[in-house]
Amino acid sequence: MAKDYYDILGVTKTSSPDELKKAYYKLAHKYHPHKGGTESNEAKMKEVNEAYSVLGNPQKKEQYDKYGQTFDRSQGQGQSSGFGGFNDFSDFAQAYRSGQGSQNGQNFSFDFGDLGDMFGDMFGGRSRAATQQNGGDIQAELTLNFREAVFGVEKKISLRKAVTCNHCHGDGAEPGSKVSACPTCGGRGQVVRNIGFGIGFPSACQACEGTGKKIDKHCKECRGQGVIKETEEILVKIPAGIDNDQTIRLSGQGEAGLKGAAAGDLYIKIRVLPEIGLNRDGADIRTVQQISFSQAALGAKIDVETLDGMVTLKIPEGTQSDKIFQIKGKGVPHLQDKGRGDHLVKVVVKTPTKLNRRQRELLAELDK
Ligand SMILES: [Zn+2]
Ligand SMILES: [Zn+2]
Repeated sequence: MAKDYYDILGVTKTSSPDELKKAYYKLAHKYHPHKGGTESNEAKMKEVNEAYSVLGNPQKKEQYDKYGQTFDRSQGQGQSSGFGGFNDFSDFAQAYRSGQGSQNGQNFSFDFGDLGDMFGDMFGGRSRAATQQNGGDIQAELTLNFREAVFGVEKKISLRKAVTCNHCHGDGAEPGSKVSACPTCGGRGQVVRNIGFGIGFPSACQACEGTGKKIDKHCKECRGQGVIKETEEILVKIPAGIDNDQTIRLSGQGEAGLKGAAAGDLYIKIRVLPEIGLNRDGADIRTVQQISFSQAALGAKIDVETLDGMVTLKIPEGTQSDKIFQIKGKGVPHLQDKGRGDHLVKVVVKTPTKLNRRQRELLAELDK
């Protein structure tokens, strides 16, 4: 039976986004892995995350209300956009556009040079898109706990995807068999397609599917495709300072392209679990600390729990309620820069409520 995301979060279809968020935070707190995570808690947390990843997103919620649970976003999804082959000009244009779309996606994304080749420039590094069948992009989601996101972490994710065939090393030819230049395109992989009015467009050679090669005997493992489906473990280095809803792009870690064409990219959307008491605001951490009336009036030293443990904060005498103190450099590391944000402590002065006679007298005296 399909899971009911509303039941999981204990909300209804008419709950407001705020109510959804509150319900999620409450459950995330309850099943948080830091709280001595049992296996059942972990499973529960996964379920809660999945439910919120759908209901917390207006578009996905609408889709869910309409169609129910259609796909599991916690697993990587292959989008084999390039597998159909570019048979005519419209296919070619379509593929070009989709490539651009992912390049200019609204998501905040990062490249990691140490994980496969980096194709910064769509029209430079991946210009082969015009002729060969590049692998599709994959989208996956990864949930981190608060401190993993703050300090960075390495995570292994498993993805079922097209990988380069080991037997033929991706070119689709049985090792030892004869490979020659494609006679149709002369080995260029491209032919000029005339659309009339003297205008020609380069298009993939259909005879060789853009590879420029004529293969006598296809690889017996992949039947000439150059790729096979496999579950691959990928080590993802999460940089310190990543935040909820940001996306990591691993260039070349998507689906392998057919017959040695370039691989697609892997987009990993990051979810960060909240940590109760620590409120993240970009690179800063915000907390609220209560102090007593006399601490505010006379000054005091208070302990503040920061990301690095306890820090002593000096409260000067005559401190007003809601004053914010800055503990420099105890915030979140800057994602693309050196240094760290700050820890901002808002002190709230507790007004005494149950006073004995002596205390009353003293305050009355003070008021004069
Ligand atoms: Zn092969
Ligand atoms: Zn050809």
